[in-house]
Order: sequence, then C-alpha cells, then structure tokens
Amino acid sequence: MVNESRLLGMFLRFLEINSPPRKEKAVAEAICAEIEGMGLAPLRDQAGEQVGGETDNIIVNIPGRAEGAPRLLFSAHFDTVAPTEGLRIVREGGVIRTESATILGADDKSGVAAILEGIRAVREEGVPHGPIDAVFSICEEVGLLGAKCLDYSLIRPDMGFVLDAGKPVGGVVATAPSHNLITAVVTGKPAHAGVCPEEGVDALQAAARAIARMRLGRIDPETTANMGIARGGEARNIVPARVEVQGEARSRNEGKLEEISRHIVEAFESAAAEAGASAEIKIDRSYNTYRHLPTAPVVGLALQAARDIGAPQDLFAAGGGSDANIFNARGIPTVVVGTGMEKVHTHDEHIAVSDLVKAAEFVASAIRRAAAAP
Ligand SMILES: [Zn+2]
Repeated sequence: MVNESRLLGMFLRFLEINSPPRKEKAVAEAICAEIEGMGLAPLRDQAGEQVGGETDNIIVNIPGRAEGAPRLLFSAHFDTVAPTEGLRIVREGGVIRTESATILGADDKSGVAAILEGIRAVREEGVPHGPIDAVFSICEEVGLLGAKCLDYSLIRPDMGFVLDAGKPVGGVVATAPSHNLITAVVTGKPAHAGVCPEEGVDALQAAARAIARMRLGRIDPETTANMGIARGGEARNIVPARVEVQGEARSRNEGKLEEISRHIVEAFESAAAEAGASAEIKIDRSYNTYRHLPTAPVVGLALQAARDIGAPQDLFAAGGGSDANIFNARGIPTVVVGTGMEKVHTHDEHIAVSDLVKAAEFVASAIRRAAAAP
C-alpha cells in the first residue's frame, strides 16, 4: 500500500532542496538516502562530468522473483527548470504550492517521489514482482542531457515509464514530437545611420522581414514553430550589421517538421537576399519523435495501471519532449505518464496530494500487473 504521509514527507524533502540543472548534488544525495533506506544500492554513472554538472544520473537495479515478468524501467528527472532558492511551500486544501516567486519543482520531483514510493509499496507487500530498473536523471530541462549521457550498460529494461507529465494523473502519453533547434545569423553591413545610411545593409530589417513572412505558432495539430530570441545591432545610430535569431520547430510528423523547417530557412534566405544581406542557418536535431500503437505491450501495461487508479483510457499526445524521447531512440519502448503536476515552469506550479498518491499507485500497479502477465 502506498503510504501517503511517507510519500508526502519525501516529496517535500526533495522540493526543499534547490536543484537547477548542473547543480543537483544535494538533491541527488537526498534521493540516494531514500534508496538506501529501502535497502537498495544506488549506482551512479559518469553523466555529470559529460554535461559539466556536479552530479551524475542515479540508477537502481532491483532484482525480481516473478517468473517471465518483463523488466520495467521507471524514470524521472531531478533537476528543475529554474532555481528554487527561498522556496516557501504552502499546503492549502490538499494542494501543494509555493508562496514564493520561484517555481515549486514538482516537475519532476513528483515523478521521483512517486516512483520511489510505488516501488517501496510493492516491495513491502512481499509478493513476487519482476525486475525493475529506476533511473533518476540530471539536466533534463536543458536538453535531456542526463538521458542522452546515461550509461545504458547499467540498465536493460524491456519497456519504460517516464513519470513526467501533468494532468490527468496516470494519463498515458504515447507519442511526442521531434524537435529542431534553428539558429539564423543575418549579416549585413554597418554604416552611420545619419551620415551615410545608403552605404549600410540592414540585417535587422532583413531578419524582421523574414520573421514577418513565416508561419509560426500552431501550424497544425501536431506541428509548432517559434522564433524565441532575436539579438543584434550595436547602437541607435549604426545600421545593424548582424542579427542572430534563435527559434525552434516541432512536429510528431517528420515530413511536416522537414517542411516547416525548410520554410523557415527559405524565409531567412529570401529576405536576406532581397536586402543584399546574407543568412547562415543552422538546424540541430534535439530529439526524435516516437509513437506507440495502442497494441504495444508498454501501452497495454500502462493502460492497465491507469485503469487501476481510475485514470482515463485515452492515449495522449505530447507537444514537447522528455527523457522518453531518448529512451525510445535507444530502443526502450517508453511512454510518459502524468503525475498530476500543474502549471509547471511558473510560480503557480502546484500538485494535489491525492494526485501524487495516485501517481505512486500507478507505479505500484504497473509493477503488480507486469508480474501477473502471462
Ligand atoms: Zn519535467
């Protein structure tokens, strides 16, 4: 049985420790202490050094006794998108939130706590379960770096569950987009804006024309695009000679992602050419899409566990990536599961205690169902 007060105590302990990306050492120690308290031995890989952070991914291998049960992976990240220094947690009406200006950090410490409590609950029941790998990752919020640098020789799961989505709790995310990072540098020619503007080539205006021509925002139900940052120019009285624009495009359809990315490149190139400027555009793939059919074993098991906790039987589509994109690319069929966290990445971030309990129950249910599978 999931123990609510034990789960909540652990969750609050994690929240109280500041853990922005690359500065997750203290919370890693708290997580390892919980794991050791369960009589298990946490392992570390070398990911911290690779990403320039102060701590590594945490891996736990739990042997199983249920014959023929698939080996399950449960994973959540323990970095938070922003620092939580000075966090003041309040509990009102069964909801955990913050009254400070920081985020709460339920993304994704709710996932970490739910996984640990779910596993603990099943182990206490003393009934045979299958083998389990747990991975608690660093630096998810800055490009899934922990998952990308994970030492995969330390795990060998048949399927995975990443507890890193919002409402509904127990909702099963079976598909997520590919993500392109787009960087354009438009180069013109500087000139004195008052004395000889005709000698200049205005890179800022060319970039602005390019952006004005682009289809951005929601392109279709599975495709989005955004120009997020534009930086350039040197002074009010100099014709701007260099502008850098950073944007992105995402789609759960590779063809559509290719098309919107090409459209963005063409907009920069044509606007720059018309102005007599040049444009250099770089596209980096951040992560790849995945899509699991309702008939996939990982989806089947996830939906069984979802049913056990009263979660909807629909499959959800994500608009963003998670460590699951990396696990899937590494050949581990993985879905994402909602922990019930809401308004993540804002200071309104909150989570209902009852949802946190259900998320832990989802984990316990998945483990029990896997052991009962033929
Ligand atoms: Zn997250």
